[in-house]
Amino acid sequence: MKIVMIGAGIAALEAAEAIRSRCQDAEIHLFSREKILPYRRPALTRMISQATTDEQFFLHPETYYREKRMQLHLGIEAASINRQHKTVFLSDGSSTGYDKLLIATGGRCFIPPIQGTELPQVITIREKDQLDTLHEYIKNGTKNIAVIGGGLLGLEIADNLSKLDMNVTVLEACPAILPRQLDEEGAAILAKQMNASHKVKTHYGVFISHIYGKDKVEGIQTQNEQNISCELVIICAGLKCNIEIAAAAGIDAGRAIIVNEHMQTSDPDIYAAGDCASFNNCCYGLWQPAKEQGNVAGANIAGEPLEFNHNMYGARLNAFGTRLFSVGDIGQNDGEYQKVCSKDDLKNVYKKMFFKNRVLVGGIMLGDVALAPKLEKAVAEGYTLEQCDSAGLICR
Ligand SMILES: Cc1cc2nc3c(=O)[nH]c(=O)nc-3n(C[C@H](O)[C@H](O)[C@H](O)COP(=O)(O)OP(=O)(O)OC[C@H]3O[C@@H](n4cnc5c(N)ncnc54)[C@H](O)[C@@H]3O)c2cc1C
Repeated sequence: MKIVMIGAGIAALEAAEAIRSRCQDAEIHLFSREKILPYRRPALTRMISQATTDEQFFLHPETYYREKRMQLHLGIEAASINRQHKTVFLSDGSSTGYDKLLIATGGRCFIPPIQGTELPQVITIREKDQLDTLHEYIKNGTKNIAVIGGGLLGLEIADNLSKLDMNVTVLEACPAILPRQLDEEGAAILAKQMNASHKVKTHYGVFISHIYGKDKVEGIQTQNEQNISCELVIICAGLKCNIEIAAAAGIDAGRAIIVNEHMQTSDPDIYAAGDCASFNNCCYGLWQPAKEQGNVAGANIAGEPLEFNHNMYGARLNAFGTRLFSVGDIGQNDGEYQKVCSKDDLKNVYKKMFFKNRVLVGGIMLGDVALAPKLEKAVAEGYTLEQCDSAGLICR
Protein backbone atom coordinates (compact mmCIF):
# COMPACT_ATOMS: atom_id res chain seq x y z
CA MET A 1 0.00 0.00 0.00
CA LYS A 2 1.36 3.44 -0.93
CA ILE A 3 0.42 6.27 1.44
CA VAL A 4 1.05 9.89 0.56
CA MET A 5 0.87 12.74 3.07
CA ILE A 6 0.64 16.39 2.15
CA GLY A 7 2.36 18.33 4.93
CA ALA A 8 4.85 17.06 7.49
CA GLY A 9 3.72 18.74 10.70
CA ILE A 10 2.74 16.96 13.88
CA ALA A 11 -0.54 15.59 12.43
CA ALA A 12 1.23 13.95 9.48
CA LEU A 13 4.08 12.62 11.61
CA GLU A 14 1.72 11.03 14.14
CA ALA A 15 -0.19 9.45 11.27
CA ALA A 16 3.03 8.10 9.74
CA GLU A 17 4.06 6.65 13.10
CA ALA A 18 0.61 5.07 13.63
CA ILE A 19 0.80 3.46 10.17
CA ARG A 20 4.36 2.18 10.56
CA SER A 21 3.60 0.61 13.96
CA ARG A 22 0.72 -1.34 12.40
CA CYS A 23 1.94 -1.98 8.90
CA GLN A 24 5.59 -2.80 8.23
CA ASP A 25 5.36 -2.99 4.45
CA ALA A 26 3.45 0.27 3.79
CA GLU A 27 5.27 2.76 1.54
CA ILE A 28 5.02 6.14 3.32
CA HIS A 29 5.79 9.47 1.61
CA LEU A 30 5.58 12.87 3.33
CA PHE A 31 5.73 16.04 1.23
CA SER A 32 6.58 19.27 3.01
CA ARG A 33 6.66 22.76 1.57
CA GLU A 34 9.16 23.66 4.28
CA LYS A 35 12.82 22.88 3.59
CA ILE A 36 13.77 21.76 7.09
CA LEU A 37 13.05 18.62 9.12
CA PRO A 38 9.64 18.55 10.87
CA TYR A 39 9.75 20.60 14.07
CA ARG A 40 7.80 21.69 17.14
CA ARG A 41 5.91 24.68 15.78
CA PRO A 42 4.97 26.13 19.23
CA ALA A 43 8.70 26.57 19.95
CA LEU A 44 8.84 29.39 17.36
CA THR A 45 7.43 31.90 19.85
CA ARG A 46 10.07 31.18 22.48
CA MET A 47 12.79 31.18 19.80
CA ILE A 48 12.14 34.87 19.12
CA SER A 49 14.19 35.62 22.23
CA GLN A 50 15.91 32.35 23.16
CA ALA A 51 18.27 29.93 21.48
CA THR A 52 17.02 26.36 21.16
CA THR A 53 18.95 23.16 20.59
CA ASP A 54 18.16 20.90 17.63
CA GLU A 55 16.91 18.26 20.09
CA GLN A 56 14.41 20.73 21.54
CA PHE A 57 13.32 22.08 18.16
CA PHE A 58 13.15 19.17 15.71
CA LEU A 59 10.66 16.38 16.30
CA HIS A 60 13.20 13.71 15.28
CA PRO A 61 16.73 13.56 13.90
CA GLU A 62 17.19 12.67 10.21
CA THR A 63 18.12 9.06 11.08
CA TYR A 64 14.63 8.47 12.51
CA TYR A 65 13.01 8.79 9.08
CA ARG A 66 15.49 6.36 7.55
CA GLU A 67 15.02 3.83 10.34
CA LYS A 68 11.21 4.09 10.10
CA ARG A 69 11.35 3.99 6.31
CA MET A 70 9.40 7.24 5.95
CA GLN A 71 10.32 9.05 2.75
CA LEU A 72 10.50 12.72 3.57
CA HIS A 73 10.41 15.04 0.55
CA LEU A 74 11.40 18.49 1.82
CA GLY A 75 10.82 21.76 -0.03
CA ILE A 76 8.20 20.20 -2.30
CA GLU A 77 4.68 21.56 -2.35
CA ALA A 78 1.67 19.53 -3.42
CA ALA A 79 -0.05 21.63 -6.08
CA SER A 80 -3.18 19.62 -6.88
CA ILE A 81 -4.92 16.27 -6.45
CA ASN A 82 -6.52 14.20 -9.19
CA ARG A 83 -8.88 11.92 -7.27
CA GLN A 84 -9.97 9.93 -10.30
CA HIS A 85 -6.39 8.86 -11.04
CA LYS A 86 -5.36 8.92 -7.35
CA THR A 87 -2.44 11.21 -8.15
CA VAL A 88 -0.89 14.24 -6.46
CA PHE A 89 0.86 16.80 -8.67
CA LEU A 90 3.93 18.43 -7.14
CA SER A 91 5.63 21.82 -7.38
CA ASP A 92 8.77 20.31 -8.98
CA GLY A 93 6.71 19.21 -11.98
CA SER A 94 6.55 15.55 -10.95
CA SER A 95 3.56 13.60 -9.67
CA THR A 96 2.96 10.67 -7.36
CA GLY A 97 0.21 8.09 -7.15
CA TYR A 98 -1.39 6.95 -3.86
CA ASP A 99 -3.62 4.25 -2.46
CA LYS A 100 -4.50 6.41 0.57
CA LEU A 101 -3.87 10.14 0.94
CA LEU A 102 -3.62 12.25 4.10
CA ILE A 103 -4.04 16.00 3.86
CA ALA A 104 -2.30 17.59 6.85
CA THR A 105 -1.60 21.03 5.46
CA GLY A 106 -2.19 22.92 8.73
CA GLY A 107 -3.00 26.59 8.51
CA ARG A 108 -1.58 30.05 8.07
CA CYS A 109 -2.21 33.32 9.84
CA PHE A 110 -5.34 35.13 8.76
CA ILE A 111 -4.52 38.52 7.25
CA PRO A 112 -7.37 40.98 7.82
CA PRO A 113 -8.32 43.11 4.80
CA ILE A 114 -6.43 46.21 5.91
CA GLN A 115 -4.72 48.62 3.55
CA GLY A 116 -0.94 48.30 3.84
CA THR A 117 -0.67 44.59 4.66
CA GLU A 118 1.08 44.10 1.31
CA LEU A 119 4.15 46.01 2.53
CA PRO A 120 7.19 43.73 3.07
CA GLN A 121 7.53 44.72 6.74
CA VAL A 122 4.11 43.23 7.54
CA ILE A 123 4.81 39.65 8.54
CA THR A 124 3.31 36.65 10.32
CA ILE A 125 5.05 33.99 12.44
CA ARG A 126 3.86 30.54 11.40
CA GLU A 127 6.90 28.88 9.83
CA LYS A 128 10.59 28.88 10.72
CA ASP A 129 11.64 30.98 7.73
CA GLN A 130 9.24 33.72 8.89
CA LEU A 131 11.00 33.70 12.26
CA ASP A 132 14.30 34.07 10.37
CA THR A 133 12.83 37.08 8.54
CA LEU A 134 11.89 38.66 11.89
CA HIS A 135 15.41 38.12 13.23
CA GLU A 136 16.85 39.64 10.05
CA TYR A 137 14.77 42.83 10.53
CA ILE A 138 15.86 43.05 14.16
CA LYS A 139 19.51 42.55 13.18
CA ASN A 140 19.14 45.38 10.68
CA GLY A 141 17.96 47.85 13.31
CA THR A 142 14.20 47.43 13.68
CA LYS A 143 13.24 48.63 17.15
CA ASN A 144 9.53 49.54 17.09
CA ILE A 145 7.14 46.68 16.41
CA ALA A 146 3.34 46.59 16.40
CA VAL A 147 1.53 43.31 16.95
CA ILE A 148 -1.99 43.17 15.50
CA GLY A 149 -4.01 40.73 17.61
CA GLY A 150 -3.79 40.41 21.39
CA GLY A 151 -4.78 36.75 21.68
CA LEU A 152 -2.57 34.07 23.24
CA LEU A 153 -0.15 34.02 20.30
CA GLY A 154 0.06 37.81 19.95
CA LEU A 155 0.78 38.25 23.66
CA GLU A 156 3.47 35.56 23.71
CA ILE A 157 5.14 37.08 20.66
CA ALA A 158 4.96 40.57 22.21
CA ASP A 159 6.47 39.32 25.46
CA ASN A 160 9.36 37.62 23.66
CA LEU A 161 10.05 40.73 21.56
CA SER A 162 10.16 42.82 24.72
CA LYS A 163 12.86 40.46 26.06
CA LEU A 164 14.96 41.63 23.10
CA ASP A 165 14.36 45.24 24.22
CA MET A 166 12.05 46.01 21.32
CA ASN A 167 9.39 48.69 21.81
CA VAL A 168 6.22 46.67 21.35
CA THR A 169 2.63 47.81 20.93
CA VAL A 170 -0.21 45.29 20.86
CA LEU A 171 -3.44 46.30 19.11
CA GLU A 172 -6.57 44.26 19.79
CA ALA A 173 -10.13 44.83 18.60
CA CYS A 174 -11.78 43.15 21.62
CA PRO A 175 -12.41 45.46 24.55
CA ALA A 176 -10.71 43.18 27.11
CA ILE A 177 -7.71 40.88 27.42
CA LEU A 178 -8.27 37.27 26.31
CA PRO A 179 -12.08 37.29 26.63
CA ARG A 180 -12.26 33.61 25.62
CA GLN A 181 -9.78 32.55 28.28
CA LEU A 182 -10.39 34.98 31.17
CA ASP A 183 -13.35 36.44 33.03
CA GLU A 184 -13.39 40.14 33.98
CA GLU A 185 -11.63 39.67 37.31
CA GLY A 186 -8.88 37.47 35.82
CA ALA A 187 -8.39 39.90 32.92
CA ALA A 188 -7.90 42.78 35.35
CA ILE A 189 -5.20 40.84 37.25
CA LEU A 190 -3.34 39.92 34.05
CA ALA A 191 -3.62 43.49 32.72
CA LYS A 192 -2.07 44.78 35.97
CA GLN A 193 0.87 42.42 35.55
CA MET A 194 1.33 43.35 31.91
CA ASN A 195 1.29 47.06 32.72
CA ALA A 196 3.76 46.53 35.57
CA SER A 197 6.25 45.12 33.09
CA HIS A 198 6.16 48.53 31.25
CA LYS A 199 7.70 46.86 28.24
CA VAL A 200 4.66 46.21 26.11
CA LYS A 201 1.97 48.81 25.41
CA THR A 202 -1.46 47.30 24.85
CA HIS A 203 -4.46 48.98 23.27
CA TYR A 204 -7.76 47.12 23.55
CA GLY A 205 -10.97 47.91 21.69
CA VAL A 206 -9.10 49.52 18.78
CA PHE A 207 -9.79 49.01 15.10
CA ILE A 208 -7.12 49.59 12.51
CA SER A 209 -7.74 52.06 9.74
CA HIS A 210 -4.60 51.32 7.73
CA ILE A 211 -0.89 50.60 7.84
CA TYR A 212 0.99 53.50 6.28
CA GLY A 213 4.36 54.04 4.66
CA LYS A 214 5.45 54.53 1.06
CA ASP A 215 7.68 51.56 0.30
CA LYS A 216 8.14 50.44 3.86
CA VAL A 217 6.06 50.47 7.03
CA GLU A 218 6.13 53.72 8.97
CA GLY A 219 3.18 53.23 11.29
CA ILE A 220 -0.42 52.26 11.93
CA GLN A 221 -3.39 54.57 11.98
CA THR A 222 -6.34 53.40 14.10
CA GLN A 223 -9.96 54.28 13.39
CA ASN A 224 -10.04 56.45 16.53
CA GLU A 225 -7.18 58.54 15.10
CA GLN A 226 -4.39 57.05 17.18
CA ASN A 227 -1.08 56.90 15.40
CA ILE A 228 1.36 54.11 16.27
CA SER A 229 4.76 54.67 14.79
CA CYS A 230 6.58 51.41 13.94
CA GLU A 231 8.92 49.83 11.39
CA LEU A 232 7.51 46.32 11.51
CA VAL A 233 4.02 44.85 11.92
CA ILE A 234 3.37 41.27 13.02
CA ILE A 235 -0.13 39.99 12.36
CA CYS A 236 -1.58 37.43 14.79
CA ALA A 237 -5.25 37.66 13.87
CA GLY A 238 -6.22 34.00 13.99
CA LEU A 239 -5.93 30.83 11.94
CA LYS A 240 -6.81 30.38 8.27
CA CYS A 241 -6.97 26.68 7.46
CA ASN A 242 -5.08 25.49 4.37
CA ILE A 243 -8.03 23.91 2.57
CA GLU A 244 -7.41 25.10 -0.98
CA ILE A 245 -5.86 21.91 -2.37
CA ALA A 246 -8.72 19.81 -0.93
CA ALA A 247 -11.48 22.19 -2.02
CA ALA A 248 -10.08 22.38 -5.56
CA ALA A 249 -10.24 18.57 -5.73
CA GLY A 250 -13.94 18.66 -4.79
CA ILE A 251 -13.50 17.39 -1.22
CA ASP A 252 -16.12 18.76 1.19
CA ALA A 253 -14.77 21.74 3.07
CA GLY A 254 -16.05 24.84 4.79
CA ARG A 255 -13.63 26.87 6.86
CA ALA A 256 -11.71 23.58 7.22
CA ILE A 257 -11.78 20.14 5.57
CA ILE A 258 -14.76 18.21 6.91
CA VAL A 259 -13.88 14.83 8.46
CA ASN A 260 -15.78 12.09 10.30
CA GLU A 261 -14.68 10.41 13.54
CA HIS A 262 -12.15 8.33 11.53
CA MET A 263 -10.65 11.53 10.05
CA GLN A 264 -11.99 10.46 6.69
CA THR A 265 -13.05 13.18 4.23
CA SER A 266 -15.93 12.98 1.75
CA ASP A 267 -13.57 10.82 -0.37
CA PRO A 268 -13.11 7.51 1.51
CA ASP A 269 -9.48 7.17 0.34
CA ILE A 270 -8.54 10.65 1.52
CA TYR A 271 -8.08 11.60 5.19
CA ALA A 272 -7.41 14.96 6.80
CA ALA A 273 -6.04 15.79 10.27
CA GLY A 274 -4.79 18.69 12.35
CA ASP A 275 -5.29 22.41 11.83
CA CYS A 276 -6.71 21.93 8.32
CA ALA A 277 -9.50 19.58 9.50
CA SER A 278 -12.88 20.16 11.06
CA PHE A 279 -14.57 17.47 13.14
CA ASN A 280 -18.10 18.13 14.44
CA ASN A 281 -17.78 21.73 13.29
CA CYS A 282 -14.70 22.18 15.43
CA CYS A 283 -11.25 23.16 14.21
CA TYR A 284 -9.00 23.32 17.25
CA GLY A 285 -5.83 25.03 16.01
CA LEU A 286 -3.90 23.35 18.84
CA TRP A 287 -0.97 20.94 19.03
CA GLN A 288 -2.52 18.16 21.12
CA PRO A 289 -5.69 17.60 19.05
CA ALA A 290 -3.58 17.75 15.84
CA LYS A 291 -1.44 14.97 17.30
CA GLU A 292 -4.45 12.87 18.34
CA GLN A 293 -6.18 13.35 14.99
CA GLY A 294 -3.00 12.33 13.16
CA ASN A 295 -2.85 9.15 15.23
CA VAL A 296 -6.51 8.34 14.49
CA ALA A 297 -6.06 9.02 10.76
CA GLY A 298 -2.97 6.80 10.63
CA ALA A 299 -4.65 3.94 12.50
CA ASN A 300 -7.63 4.05 10.12
CA ILE A 301 -5.41 4.19 7.04
CA ALA A 302 -3.68 1.06 8.39
CA GLY A 303 -7.06 -0.63 8.84
CA GLU A 304 -7.80 -0.13 12.54
CA PRO A 305 -11.09 1.77 13.01
CA LEU A 306 -9.98 4.12 15.82
CA GLU A 307 -12.30 7.04 16.55
CA PHE A 308 -11.43 10.63 17.43
CA ASN A 309 -13.33 11.84 20.48
CA HIS A 310 -13.90 15.50 21.07
CA ASN A 311 -11.95 16.32 24.20
CA MET A 312 -11.64 19.39 26.35
CA TYR A 313 -8.38 21.09 25.35
CA GLY A 314 -7.13 23.84 27.60
CA ALA A 315 -5.40 27.00 26.37
CA ARG A 316 -2.08 28.13 27.86
CA LEU A 317 -0.15 31.39 28.05
CA ASN A 318 3.38 31.78 29.29
CA ALA A 319 4.23 35.49 29.22
CA PHE A 320 4.77 38.61 31.32
CA GLY A 321 6.26 36.59 34.15
CA THR A 322 3.10 34.60 34.66
CA ARG A 323 1.32 31.52 33.38
CA LEU A 324 -2.30 31.07 32.47
CA PHE A 325 -4.34 27.94 31.94
CA SER A 326 -7.98 28.18 30.91
CA VAL A 327 -10.34 25.39 29.95
CA GLY A 328 -13.99 24.92 29.04
CA ASP A 329 -16.93 27.23 29.71
CA ILE A 330 -15.75 30.07 31.92
CA GLY A 331 -19.09 31.73 32.39
CA GLN A 332 -19.71 33.16 28.91
CA ASN A 333 -22.95 31.31 28.21
CA ASP A 334 -26.53 31.72 29.41
CA GLY A 335 -27.67 30.20 32.67
CA GLU A 336 -26.63 30.18 36.31
CA TYR A 337 -23.03 29.40 37.25
CA GLN A 338 -21.79 28.51 40.68
CA LYS A 339 -18.25 29.87 41.03
CA VAL A 340 -15.51 28.80 43.41
CA CYS A 341 -12.68 31.29 43.54
CA SER A 342 -9.37 31.51 45.40
CA LYS A 343 -6.85 34.35 45.24
CA ASP A 344 -3.47 35.29 46.60
CA ASP A 345 -2.95 38.95 45.73
CA LEU A 346 0.64 38.98 46.94
CA LYS A 347 1.62 36.13 44.65
CA ASN A 348 -0.70 37.26 41.83
CA VAL A 349 -2.44 33.90 41.89
CA TYR A 350 -6.07 33.68 40.80
CA LYS A 351 -8.08 30.49 40.38
CA LYS A 352 -11.72 30.11 39.53
CA MET A 353 -13.89 27.11 38.77
CA PHE A 354 -17.27 27.32 37.07
CA PHE A 355 -20.05 24.84 37.86
CA LYS A 356 -23.41 24.44 36.14
CA ASN A 357 -26.07 22.21 37.70
CA ARG A 358 -23.41 21.09 40.22
CA VAL A 359 -21.06 19.90 37.45
CA LEU A 360 -17.66 21.49 36.68
CA VAL A 361 -17.79 23.06 33.20
CA GLY A 362 -14.68 25.25 33.13
CA GLY A 363 -11.82 26.77 35.04
CA ILE A 364 -9.08 29.38 35.09
CA MET A 365 -5.64 29.18 36.72
CA LEU A 366 -3.51 32.30 36.62
CA GLY A 367 -0.11 32.55 38.29
CA ASP A 368 -0.03 28.92 39.40
CA VAL A 369 -0.81 26.25 36.82
CA ALA A 370 0.66 23.25 38.64
CA LEU A 371 -2.76 21.57 38.82
CA ALA A 372 -3.71 22.36 35.19
CA PRO A 373 -3.72 18.68 34.03
CA LYS A 374 -5.98 17.79 36.98
CA LEU A 375 -8.32 20.67 36.16
CA GLU A 376 -8.43 19.66 32.48
CA LYS A 377 -9.37 16.10 33.44
CA ALA A 378 -11.95 17.30 35.98
CA VAL A 379 -13.69 19.49 33.37
CA ALA A 380 -13.56 16.73 30.74
CA GLU A 381 -15.11 14.26 33.17
CA GLY A 382 -17.60 16.74 34.67
CA TYR A 383 -16.54 16.45 38.32
CA THR A 384 -18.90 17.55 41.08
CA LEU A 385 -17.76 20.04 43.72
CA GLU A 386 -17.07 17.13 46.11
CA GLN A 387 -14.96 15.32 43.48
CA CYS A 388 -13.00 18.53 42.82
CA ASP A 389 -12.41 18.82 46.56
CA SER A 390 -11.16 15.22 46.81
CA ALA A 391 -8.87 15.86 43.80
CA GLY A 392 -7.28 18.77 45.69
CA LEU A 393 -8.60 21.37 43.29
CA ILE A 394 -10.43 23.46 45.90
CA CYS A 395 -8.09 25.76 47.81
CA ARG A 396 -8.98 26.67 51.36
C1 LIG B 1 4.09 30.48 16.73
C2 LIG B 1 3.09 29.42 17.12
C3 LIG B 1 2.96 29.04 18.44
C4 LIG B 1 2.05 28.06 18.81
N1 LIG B 1 1.93 27.72 20.13
C5 LIG B 1 1.07 26.75 20.50
C6 LIG B 1 0.96 26.36 21.85
O1 LIG B 1 1.62 26.90 22.74
N2 LIG B 1 0.08 25.34 22.15
C7 LIG B 1 -0.69 24.71 21.19
O2 LIG B 1 -1.46 23.80 21.50
N3 LIG B 1 -0.59 25.09 19.89
C8 LIG B 1 0.26 26.08 19.53
N4 LIG B 1 0.34 26.44 18.19
C9 LIG B 1 -0.50 25.73 17.21
C10 LIG B 1 0.16 24.41 16.79
O3 LIG B 1 1.48 24.64 16.41
C11 LIG B 1 -0.66 23.79 15.65
O4 LIG B 1 -1.95 23.51 16.14
C12 LIG B 1 -0.02 22.52 15.10
O5 LIG B 1 1.28 22.76 14.64
C13 LIG B 1 -0.89 21.94 13.97
O6 LIG B 1 -0.22 20.85 13.38
P1 LIG B 1 -0.54 20.40 11.88
O7 LIG B 1 0.32 19.22 11.63
O8 LIG B 1 -2.01 20.27 11.71
O9 LIG B 1 -0.14 21.62 10.96
P2 LIG B 1 1.24 22.41 10.78
O10 LIG B 1 2.09 22.33 12.01
O11 LIG B 1 0.84 23.78 10.31
O12 LIG B 1 1.98 21.64 9.59
C14 LIG B 1 1.49 21.67 8.28
C15 LIG B 1 2.66 21.62 7.33
O13 LIG B 1 2.15 21.43 6.01
C16 LIG B 1 2.87 22.23 5.11
N5 LIG B 1 2.05 22.43 3.90
C17 LIG B 1 0.94 23.18 3.77
N6 LIG B 1 0.44 23.08 2.51
C18 LIG B 1 1.27 22.24 1.85
C19 LIG B 1 1.29 21.74 0.52
N7 LIG B 1 0.35 22.07 -0.36
N8 LIG B 1 2.29 20.91 0.17
C20 LIG B 1 3.26 20.54 1.06
N9 LIG B 1 3.28 21.00 2.33
C21 LIG B 1 2.29 21.83 2.72
C22 LIG B 1 3.12 23.50 5.89
O14 LIG B 1 4.16 24.24 5.31
C23 LIG B 1 3.47 22.90 7.26
O15 LIG B 1 4.84 22.59 7.32
C24 LIG B 1 1.24 27.44 17.82
C25 LIG B 1 1.36 27.83 16.48
C26 LIG B 1 2.27 28.81 16.13
C27 LIG B 1 2.38 29.21 14.68
